[in-house]
Amino acid sequence: MTLSYDELRALDARHVWHPFTQAGTAGPATLALGARGASIFTADGREILDMVSSWWVNLHGHANPAIAQAIADQAGRLEQVIFADFTHEPAARLAQRVTRRLPGDLNRVFYSDDGSTAVEVALKLAHQYWRNHGQHRSSYIAFEGGYHGDTAGAMSAGHSSGYFEAWREMLFPVETIPFPATWDDDEAVEVKEQVALDALDLIFAANPDHVAAVIIEPLIQGAGGMRMCRPEFLAKLADRVKEHGSLLIFDEVMTGFGRTGEIFACVKAGVTPDLVCLSKGLTGGFLPLSMTVARDCIFEAFLGQDLSRAFLHGHSYTANPLGCAAGLASIDLLEGPACTARVKAIEAVHRLRLDGLKSLPNVAHTRLTGTIAALDVTGGGQGYDSGIGTRMKAEFLQRGLLLRPLGEVLYLLPPYCITDEQLHRAWDGVDEVLRLLAK
Ligand SMILES: *Cc1c(COP(=O)(O)O)cnc(C)c1O
Repeated sequence: MTLSYDELRALDARHVWHPFTQAGTAGPATLALGARGASIFTADGREILDMVSSWWVNLHGHANPAIAQAIADQAGRLEQVIFADFTHEPAARLAQRVTRRLPGDLNRVFYSDDGSTAVEVALKLAHQYWRNHGQHRSSYIAFEGGYHGDTAGAMSAGHSSGYFEAWREMLFPVETIPFPATWDDDEAVEVKEQVALDALDLIFAANPDHVAAVIIEPLIQGAGGMRMCRPEFLAKLADRVKEHGSLLIFDEVMTGFGRTGEIFACVKAGVTPDLVCLSKGLTGGFLPLSMTVARDCIFEAFLGQDLSRAFLHGHSYTANPLGCAAGLASIDLLEGPACTARVKAIEAVHRLRLDGLKSLPNVAHTRLTGTIAALDVTGGGQGYDSGIGTRMKAEFLQRGLLLRPLGEVLYLLPPYCITDEQLHRAWDGVDEVLRLLAK
C-alpha cells in the first residue's frame, strides 16, 4: 500500500520525535523523496540546495552512485559481524587508508558509531592511559564554546557551548580556557592566542599531574558558531601540552576528510595529536560510523597479560562492514583529482563572495577555512535561539536553499560535488537576504 504525501506527514507527526526540535512550535517536517548531488527533492515538488551537507556529513553529494554500489556489494557479502575476535576486509583496509593520511604514528583505529561515541572513546582512553601508567588523572581541559557531541562525556567536554543546561547536574567537571577565535583582518589574534596559552599554563601550574587530556576542535569550532583559529595556534598548543606532559585530543569529527581544505586539520596545522576523533564525512555521509585514532604509544599502554589493562569498551555495530565499505568508496573519491579540484574551487568562490559582502552594514567577522565560509549577521540579537537565525532560515528556504544559521552566525558548508553555478546561486541568495535584513 502506498501512502499519500499527507498520510506520510501525519504518520511522522504522530510517531516521530525529531532532534533539536520544539515540536510544539515547529511546522510539519519537510518530506524528502530523494536527493542527488547537492540537491534534495521534496514531496511537494521543490528542489532544495543542501548548503549544510545534511549536518556536515555529506562530501560527494547525495546518492553518489559509487558509494551506493559499494554498500550494495558489501551487503550481499557480509552485512555485519561481531567485532570482538572477528575482523573483515573493509575494516582493516579502511583503517589503513585513514591512518596513511594522518601524521606521525597515529596508526591505531578504534571503531564506533558516531561523533559523540568517538569522543567518549577518546576521553575514556585518555583516562585509562594514565591509570595504566599508575596515575590518577581525572580532569580535562576544553575550549570555551567547544562542542563535542550529545552523550554525557561529550556534553561535559562541551559544557560551555551552552547547549546542555538541562543536564548540568549529570556532567563531570571540565576546565575551559578561551578559544582564540579569529576572522578576516583581525589585528588582535596574537593577543587572544597568548591569553589562551597563558590560561592553559595556569591550570597546569596549579595542578601538574591532574589533566588527563586537552581536547579541541582544530581550526574551527563547529556547533559553537563556526569560530576559527589559526594553524599557528594549534602548533603552539601542541607544544605546550607536550611540555606539560599531558595528552592532546583533536576532535576532527567535523574538520576531517577535506573540510578545511586539507585532508585533516592536523595535517594543515602540522601537528600530531595523541588521539583523533573522526566521523561525519567518514562514510561520505551515507552511514553512521566513526573512529578514534590513537598513536602507537597510546595503544601500547593497554598491552599486557591482564584483562583489566585492556580497553573494555565496544558497541554492537562496531566497525559495521557496510559503513566501512562506504568509507573506502568515499576515500577513493576524496583522493581523486576531481574532488581535490572541487575543494580548491569552493574555497575560491567562498573567498570572492565573502569579500563582496564585507561592505554590508550588517555583516561582521567574515571568515573562511577550506570549504567552510562563515560570517556574523549583526543587529538581530545573539545566540542559538535568537530570532534572526530562524528568520534567515525561512528566507533561505523560500529561495530553495537549505541553510541553518547558528543564531546570528551564517555559514555555508556545501558538499564538494557542488558546481560553481550552484554555489554562486547560493551566495546570490545570501546576498539578497542580507540586504533585505539590513533594511
Ligand atoms: C557533530 C560533532 C560531534 C558529534 O557527532 P554526532 O555524530 O552528532 O554524535 C562531535 N564533535 C564535533 C566537532 C562535531 O561537529
